[in-house]
Amino acid sequence: MSSVACIFCRIIKGEIPSIKLFESEKTLAFLDINPLSKGHSLIIPKYHGKHITDIPDDHLLEVLSVTKRIARAVGAENFNVLQNNGRIAHQMVDHVHFHMIPKPNEEEGLGIGWPMQ
Ligand code: C5P
Repeated sequence: MSSVACIFCRIIKGEIPSIKLFESEKTLAFLDINPLSKGHSLIIPKYHGKHITDIPDDHLLEVLSVTKRIARAVGAENFNVLQNNGRIAHQMVDHVHFHMIPKPNEEEGLGIGWPMQ
């Protein structure tokens, strides 16, 4: 199930470029185009749904598992996992996605704005 108009469905199909970190039958992980910190990644189910409540459990569970692996792979020691549902909750892309946002320490100096500070 995918949506022709959805930007993340188009990334999944390869119609819009992305820097891919992981891909399986159900899941895609790629670097956020507008990162809040180095390594800011998005992990998405290939199943199209707007809210977390729209996604079948097996797809959701794999997305969580991949989120964990991406955090390890980019070497994030401190990080936030963020998942927005609805405009008022700051969801801009209507395809479920988990942000994995490394929280750099001050010496690394890579923090850029909310919610990193
Ligand atoms: O959770 P929210 O919907 O606000 O986040 C959407 C995210 O998708 C943003 O961080 C934005 O930078 C990212 N994005 C992207 N590649 C695109 C379009 C949006 O990484 N082509």
